[in-house]
Amino acid sequence: MLNFFDKIHINLLNVLFPDFCNGCAKLLINNESTICTKCLHLLPLTQHNLLKESELTRVFKGIIPIEFGVAMMYFNKKGVAQNLIHNLKYRNQQKIGTLLGNIYAQELKNHKISETVDYIIPVPLHKKRFHERGYNQVTTFCNAIGENLNISVLDNVLIKREYLKSQTSKNKENRLENNKNAFAIENYENLNNKHFLLIDDVFTTGATLESCARELLKIENAKVSILTIAFSQS
Ligand SMILES: [Zn+2]
Repeated sequence: MLNFFDKIHINLLNVLFPDFCNGCAKLLINNESTICTKCLHLLPLTQHNLLKESELTRVFKGIIPIEFGVAMMYFNKKGVAQNLIHNLKYRNQQKIGTLLGNIYAQELKNHKISETVDYIIPVPLHKKRFHERGYNQVTTFCNAIGENLNISVLDNVLIKREYLKSQTSKNKENRLENNKNAFAIENYENLNNKHFLLIDDVFTTGATLESCARELLKIENAKVSILTIAFSQS
């Protein structure tokens, strides 16, 4: 139970350091934290986890063998998902990843992913990018999914090999070309016959995930599934 002075202290903290919703930027109230109640209810969930074959899985059909492909939310310009990803990625709001991971893990509890995946593999950042940002934006999401579903996260198997400039201005062909040799695998000696869940923040062209999956599929008898926080339909 909070006493009178504790309450004054908390109110004062709210005044001095107000906490804003990472989805809509409105002031958080009462017990809200990270994301307001309204945004939580409006998360544009894809329901991929309820489908036999999602649109994400279909993208890779005939290109690389993927067991399951699911994205948590649709990524719409200026929508809640875009704001959440932006704040997670560029504003050090890593708690967004934890919150979304905790929510989505509940959706995956009855999905084959939770029964068949052996390890979670985050899509890595290059060391230089990692040092600039200070963290990989998918780490907290991966950890939350892993803790809830009891699956270990391996962040030393897939590595990013070369430093590439921001990809936003390049077209798909260039991205594919650049991504071809961008990733490599190491420390996989004891990982034969395993099912890996590759996790990234946003699915856009699929080029990065394709390169990463190709690397993981070099491990003997490997299976790969893909999970992204958001799915861009553009
Ligand atoms: Zn909000």
